[in-house]
Amino acid sequence: MSEPGQNRSYGSSYEKEAAALDAADELGELRARFVLDDTVYLDGNSLGALPRSVPGQVEDVVRRQWGSLRIRSWDESGWWTAPERIGDRIAPLVGAAPGQIVVGDSTSVNVFKAVVGAVRLANERRDARDAREGAGVRDEVLVDVTTFPTDGYIAASAARLTGCTLRPVAPADVPDALSGRTAAVLLNHVDYRTGRLHDLPSLTAAIRAAGAVSVWDLCHSAGALPVGLDEHGVDLAVGCTYKYLNGGPGSPAYLYVRRDHQSRFDSPLPGWNSHADPFGMTPDFTPAPGALRGRVGTPDILSMLALEAALEVWDDVSIEVLRAKSLALTDFFLQCVEAYVPGGAVEPVTPLAHAERGSQVSLRCADAGGVMRRLIERGVIGDFREPDILRFGFTPLYVGFGDAERAARVLGEMFS
Ligand SMILES: *Cc1c(COP(=O)(O)O)cnc(C)c1O
Repeated sequence: MSEPGQNRSYGSSYEKEAAALDAADELGELRARFVLDDTVYLDGNSLGALPRSVPGQVEDVVRRQWGSLRIRSWDESGWWTAPERIGDRIAPLVGAAPGQIVVGDSTSVNVFKAVVGAVRLANERRDARDAREGAGVRDEVLVDVTTFPTDGYIAASAARLTGCTLRPVAPADVPDALSGRTAAVLLNHVDYRTGRLHDLPSLTAAIRAAGAVSVWDLCHSAGALPVGLDEHGVDLAVGCTYKYLNGGPGSPAYLYVRRDHQSRFDSPLPGWNSHADPFGMTPDFTPAPGALRGRVGTPDILSMLALEAALEVWDDVSIEVLRAKSLALTDFFLQCVEAYVPGGAVEPVTPLAHAERGSQVSLRCADAGGVMRRLIERGVIGDFREPDILRFGFTPLYVGFGDAERAARVLGEMFS
């Protein structure tokens, strides 16, 4: 808002405020659990930083478990049960009781399992309930029109395979779009581009009231804010683990199947790992009980156990405290941007209301691609999203208020 030359005096007051906020931050010491340098890393919503607990354990998995124990590790090192064990470790971070999450495959693949599974669940229920009332088949899938593209592509294919029509709708318009034809609704909890947090409790309730099945994609919320899957009655959910959960590049995703649905969850990818008796090697498929039927084939052990090691950083972290810090960080960053960046150069697209904000700040800006390239050269790592968005992710585990102040100051210097 002010002239760049005036900013240093304001700047020093923001620097002081940042130092005071960092000194009072009860999560501040967690940064030491990560491998970081003196750049400002605001891209943990794309690839989380490396936890210090990971390299040693990966070395052990490779050298001892694979190198020495070899085939014995499927039992002795707990490889076979890793998908459900690590699912139970993620569970408290997304408000789920144990036994409802399995880890494996990519988010894209889990979106496929969940959307097809949701359409099948909705219509199976129809047989029992709606059929009595003479209702027709549920043959419509609603998808978040602002979704991360992969979810949209997969939902379109899943709809085609299940004989459904795909209808893109804005999350806020879902309640009005629901009808007796709606089978499944796929929504992103936090919009990857704008950082907008959608109202999971009320949308889930509306979907349930319409007799449809909810599928939430938690990629940009798990590990950044409370999700409350069990509490809010979410039916199915998926998410990745390499963003706020710091599992490493391409670490496996997860699938949540609410306990009451598990016995009827009919995966479109039944593999031998989802069989009740995988080593029975029978020609007929009998699904395993519980969330296990969300598994498909042999788990990707190296990535999966890197993720398990990475999850150790969460052992004593409260998601509520984390959320409070996340909001304080993004508030402070927005204040600093307002102070340092000349008026009109950037425009926040992330909602200012806390109830509508994830853990990132997106700023619309002319030549955003060029601006981000120069920010990265100056040691402020965010990312650029088409067409004109600067994206800054605030991972409360390792980002501090000093980082927020410096990022805003360097951004301001781009326009002076
Ligand atoms: C990051 C992200 C994905 C990524 O999918 P992959 O299959 O892991 O590549 C999917 N959906 C959303 C909403 C995301 O933010």
